[in-house]
Amino acid sequence: MYTRIYVLRFPQEIIDQPIICHLVKRFDVEFNILQAAIDLREEGMMVIELMGHEENVGRAVSYLREQQVSVDRLAASIRRDEDRCFQCGACTGICPTGALGIERPAMAVRFDPELCTGCGLCVPVCPVRAMEVSLRRTMQRFG
Ligand code: SF4
Ligand code: SF4
Repeated sequence: MYTRIYVLRFPQEIIDQPIICHLVKRFDVEFNILQAAIDLREEGMMVIELMGHEENVGRAVSYLREQQVSVDRLAASIRRDEDRCFQCGACTGICPTGALGIERPAMAVRFDPELCTGCGLCVPVCPVRAMEVSLRRTMQRFG
């Protein structure tokens, strides 16, 4: 199943509308809200996992943008600290999407942010914590 994690930002005018509920009925996608911070007087932020056929997830994202919701891939918040990484390869076995893989014949560990879903599985397996998730920093301003 195609899975992507997004950071959504809702402007104050649409915070009280059931936009997320429409995703299931209209686009046949499942969702999992990983984190949410909503203040009815200001904008809201939500980290959401969307699952379904790739085309349907894409249509759901387009719908969210049409509703004036700002949509960013969480993958953009994940990075590898190239100074720390010593190319051990321990993370490649656990990455479910192939975003981390070994390039032959050089045996270098490649990280492709485009393939990363932001699942975070690689973070605890890295012995030097080279994979960094900056989600906490993103949510900080909502306390
Ligand atoms: S967070 Fe790590 S394990 Fe998960 S998809 Fe991205 S690179 Fe792979
Ligand atoms: S587990 Fe950590 S150090 Fe090893 S290749 Fe992956 S990111 Fe680099």
